[in-house]
Amino acid sequence: MSITQNIQTVRERIAVAAHSAGRAPEAVTLMLAAKHQPLDNLLEAAHAGATTFGHNLVQQLQSSTRGLLEAGLTTTNTVIGPVQSNKLRAAMDSADRIDTVDSVKTATRIARRQEARIADGLATGPYPVLIQVNSSGADTQNGCAPGGLLELAGQIMDLGLVRIDGLMTIGANTSDESQIRKSFALTRALGQEMREYLDLPGATELSMGMTGDLAIAVEEGSTIVRVGTAVFGARPGR
Ligand SMILES: *Cc1c(COP(=O)(O)O)cnc(C)c1O
Repeated sequence: MSITQNIQTVRERIAVAAHSAGRAPEAVTLMLAAKHQPLDNLLEAAHAGATTFGHNLVQQLQSSTRGLLEAGLTTTNTVIGPVQSNKLRAAMDSADRIDTVDSVKTATRIARRQEARIADGLATGPYPVLIQVNSSGADTQNGCAPGGLLELAGQIMDLGLVRIDGLMTIGANTSDESQIRKSFALTRALGQEMREYLDLPGATELSMGMTGDLAIAVEEGSTIVRVGTAVFGARPGR
């Protein structure tokens, strides 16, 4: 199967799950997880209508974003992996949003850098982020603890130059569907709580669901699914 056909198949999976939950399929953005994909694959995906890419590797984020632009393709590019502090500046210059903020330390660095970007004329307002939540509780997962979300979000709001657009999570890594569903339902509930308690009506994004669990995530309210394998095939070394 080609990347173009795979994108079509994934879009159909999203539509089926959305309809079964009474949601509009257009309410779910398909973000392609681009790690280790050569530019040609991203170009094929973009020509097939993909508009949104998520990157784990800052260097690849930079080169792919440049390559897509040079091909005349306008895309949205975000960071979906942890960012080392020495790569933050490069990440912010290439990415439209960082989706993995889980500490006030990282958010503070983003705010400081955004201040400089504004002074340099590179930006005009706050930098957009998603807060990553460790909804499964696995100690191998990044993300803030669910119980600490409101405090963290409040501290990030106080920084002024970081805008919270919503939450990102990685579902429980298990074949037990009820556990996976629980982690997504928790994230959706936390998002709602955050919007209400902190008066953040615009923080509506819920980035949740990957190749193996995207249907459950869409049923539980996901607005962004991050898909790699189902579109590009198994990654090298897997
Ligand atoms: C690689 C990756 C994905 C995509 O995973 P697949 O199972 O290949 O669809 C999604 N989210 C994150 C954070 C990733 O690193």
